[in-house]
Amino acid sequence: MGLQRYEFNQIRMGVDTPIVVYAAREEQAVRACRAAYSRITALEERMSDYRADSELNLLCQRAVGRWVKVSPELFYVLWRAQKLAQQTDGAFDVTVGPLVRLWREARRTGKLPDTAILSDAKARSGYRLMELSLRRRAVRLKTERMQLDLGGIAKGYACDCALRELRKHGLPRALIQMGGEIVAGDAPPNAPGWKIDLPDSPHGLFLKNGAVSTSGSTEQYVEIDGVRYAHIIDPRTGLGLTQLILARVRARDGITADSLATTAAVLGDPDAKRLERLYKGVQVTVSQVCFNHSGQPLNGSHGRLT
Ligand code: ADP
Ligand code: MG
Repeated sequence: MGLQRYEFNQIRMGVDTPIVVYAAREEQAVRACRAAYSRITALEERMSDYRADSELNLLCQRAVGRWVKVSPELFYVLWRAQKLAQQTDGAFDVTVGPLVRLWREARRTGKLPDTAILSDAKARSGYRLMELSLRRRAVRLKTERMQLDLGGIAKGYACDCALRELRKHGLPRALIQMGGEIVAGDAPPNAPGWKIDLPDSPHGLFLKNGAVSTSGSTEQYVEIDGVRYAHIIDPRTGLGLTQLILARVRARDGITADSLATTAAVLGDPDAKRLERLYKGVQVTVSQVCFNHSGQPLNGSHGRLT
């Protein structure tokens, strides 16, 4: 049976989302990928903090002081996030939403928030302010005006779900990328895996039934008074990370790789290595970003599919 390579690209969750599959017939590839993109759209509708009516944003309004039942998908992501927060003393923390909003404002205005505004946002952040009940599949928030933000975990999870959808449609040889997240199913025909080009690893890597995620200060940042603040928040300062750091994580699935890469960027070297002991089969590397003479990062970019 001759398998052909088919490649699609759409924007989801604000980023290019290429999907590559091997299929016997074009209609099969089209049908499967359409289902995979729809699955991601449905997750985006639940988990986006940009949409006023997302399940996530409605939860932030309704769950103050009372339990609110949520969808199984949202609960799973919050559960994994909360576990990681506890394991890392809040280096990973999806309650950083108010601080992320301040970062976005700083990017717009070129100014850091003043102290009072920053401490107000910090008071509304902190993973201990979010409670989860497995029995009720519900969430309760301890204070008003909290903002949950799944930007460090939802894309990886969405890739996992999309891959599952492709498998259901009979296409296990598939690859999905969303920004810094790459999730692979079975290898292409006659290949050891999907070849991923990474600027800092000369031979690239071959990925199958696994995920690789890159996080750091090279893609999204704002520079103020000569200091670079990345879009990853250091929950201790409440500001964007100022270390020029690049974290890469290989893991069995996208949700693990995505959330651990964000965490590794916050923890830095050598603390990030601790994650390898917490999560079996995970590989974490943290490096300093190097720049060429025109200020472009040499090892910065997300992986490229080839
Ligand atoms: P990318 O979005 O480029 O793939 P990441 O996976 O590292 O990068 O996610 C960064 C996003 O995670 C931020 O835009 C924000 O939404 C969220 N975030 C920022 N800081 C934290 C943190 N300390 N813990 C959890 N999520 C965070
Ligand atoms: Mg991440």
